[in-house]
Formats: sequence, C-alpha cells, structure tokens
Amino acid sequence: MDGLRASLHPAALACDGVRGLTPYLPGKPIAELAREFGLAEGDIIKLASNENPLGIGARALTAARDALAECARYPDGAGFALKQAIAAHHDLAPECVTLGNGSNDVLDLVARAFLAPGVNAVYSEHAFAVYPIAVQAVGAEGRVAKARDYGHDLAAMRAQMDTATRVVFIANPNNPTGTWLRGGELEAFIADLPPGALVVVDEAYFEYVAEPDYSDSSRWLARYPHLIVTRTFSKAYGLAGLRVGYALSHPEVADLLNRVREPFNVNHVAQAAACAALEDRAHLQQGVTLNAAGMHTMRAGVRALGLGCIPSVGNFLCVDVGRDAGAVYQALLREGVIVRPVANYGLPNHLRVTIGLAEENRRFLDALSRACQR
Ligand SMILES: *Cc1c(COP(=O)(O)O)cnc(C)c1O
Repeated sequence: MDGLRASLHPAALACDGVRGLTPYLPGKPIAELAREFGLAEGDIIKLASNENPLGIGARALTAARDALAECARYPDGAGFALKQAIAAHHDLAPECVTLGNGSNDVLDLVARAFLAPGVNAVYSEHAFAVYPIAVQAVGAEGRVAKARDYGHDLAAMRAQMDTATRVVFIANPNNPTGTWLRGGELEAFIADLPPGALVVVDEAYFEYVAEPDYSDSSRWLARYPHLIVTRTFSKAYGLAGLRVGYALSHPEVADLLNRVREPFNVNHVAQAAACAALEDRAHLQQGVTLNAAGMHTMRAGVRALGLGCIPSVGNFLCVDVGRDAGAVYQALLREGVIVRPVANYGLPNHLRVTIGLAEENRRFLDALSRACQR
C-alpha cells in the first residue's frame, strides 16, 4: 500500500499470539455463493453453520420488531430482564449470569479475565476453533490434547495440565464432531481439577441432546466454583444473527467476567428476542423434534451411499467422504448446497452438514450422491 511507510511492517508490530493466529472460517454466506456462481439466492441451501432451519420463532420476531422501535436508546447494559429470565430458567441467581454477544463473546471474556502470557489453556484436538483464537489473542499458550474416537479424551486433557493451566475448554457436545461426554465422567474430571484451573463447559447444542446419561452441567455450579457453563441462543433458539449467549458461573467468576465485558455488548433487539425465545418452548421443541427426525434420515442416507460419519448428538453430522473433501465441497457448491469443510479442524476427509428441513436434507443427500460418484 502506498500510504505505508517503508519502515512499517505491521506484522512485526503485532502481538506474538496474534501473529500466530489463523482467522475463524465461517460457513459461506448464501449471498456470497450466489455472487460467485451466478446462482439465485432462492436456489441455494445453507447447511453450514448449524443454524435452526425453522428460523426465528414468531414470538421472538414480534419482540425483536417491537424492540427495534426503541433503538435510539442504549440497551440495558446490565441486561436485567434477560438475566432474570435466564436465571429463572436455570434455577440460579441472576448474579451467576454473564451475557455475551453470542457465547463466543463469553469465551473471549474468560480468556481476557483469566489468561495472559506465561499461563496456558487446554483444549482438545478437533475442538471448536474459537478456543485457540481466544487463547492466543491474549498471549497465553494453547495446549492441544489428542482426541479419542474424534471426541474429548479427558485423561489426555488432564495430562496436558500443569500448575500454569488456568482454563480448560470442553465442548459438550463438541463441534464439529458431534461427540459428547457422559455426565459421570465429566463431573469426575471437574471434581479432580487442580485448584488453579477453571473449566469451561460449552453447551451450545445442549437443547438437542437426548442421551439419558448426558448431563446439564449447570446443576453442578453450587458444588464447583471453578466451573463455567456457556449456552447460546444461536442454535436451537434460532437467533444466530442477533448474537446472544451467556455464561453461568459462581458469582465471583461472573463479577470478574463483567469487569472486562464491553458495557453494551448485547444489543437491545437481541435482549428482547432472547427473553421471548426463552418463553417459546413450543418453537424450541418443534426444532428439536425436526432435528431428531432429520438426523435419522441423514445418517441412513449417508450410510446408504457407503460413507461413514461420526456419531453426533448435535444438529449436525460430520460425514467421512472417504477422500479429500475439498473437491466434494466444491461439487456441492456448484449445486447450490453449502456445507462446511473441516480440514482446518484436522479432518480433511470430512464435511460437516447441518441437519436442515426434510427437503434440504434430501437435496443434500442427492447432491452428495452425485458428488461422490465422480
Ligand atoms: C456455535 C457454537 C458456539 C456459539 O456461538 P455463538 O457465538 O453463541 O453464536 C459456541 N460453541 C460451540 C461449540 C459452537 O458450535
């Protein structure tokens, strides 16, 4: 760039951790594919970001529209009404709740409050890509534990920990693999952590899990002051575009997270919509039921093509296409089907597909069948 002085090399000025970062790769937006391939937006399906295929619920939409009219004012920075609603939902005190601009924001708050150069955080191979970004951005060391059967190996994670470990990130279920941990093994791990470490249990897909031995770890908060549980309105609640999520923790932890929080991090429309979404149990249930049926169809369809997949309890499936997945991804794009390549998660032969509406699932399976015959 002409304007840059010859002596200025921005990369040399960046913090070490930031220089080593690779940016988060989101699912390709529909409008972008339409532009690139000259397709009509209406002919494209996006099964790439684990969004709710039913969309926002009617009650949340009404609340959002009403809130929009009040947008000249700053939002409630303390999020009073939403915190009350979330606290009641979990039978906890509002002091245990920290609101985030998506749960991604809350993960960042944890990193900023508890991590720094000289300490480390532990997470698993194939785990959610936001953890290394949050950790390295604040100059802390990220330690990756080997996965077992694509999922978290708690013994391997424990072995990575030392006296400088401040945070352990666990996604349960994990994205992009869909693997999950049983309540018993997870609680034993939390109970056994050394006193210097906090554990974040990221339950972004909690609402979809029906396994009898899966646990709501927020119920353990009274017992473990070093536990932080994160949830989101982006997935089952259908509010991904509004950006709202939260952490549940001991009030002292919440107090620390709130010290580094942007004062107005959750906007007014998002707060109103989230309150309404939390009350709309019918919309949530409809999405969960649709997902269970769609998961069944997708798994059977993938198997019928002679392909494997990682058993998933979320609203997505990681399909092993048995070859480098890049070409299959491209072939699906040409048919207007957007899924998620996961080579950056150490899974070069897999594609992650979100469970969609029945007709979307069928379209994906048909396109996959053609793409894999090539
Ligand atoms: C989608 C997702 C999130 C949540 O993202 P938001 O910032 O709340 O939209 C968090 N953790 C995992 C594992 C996810 O897949």
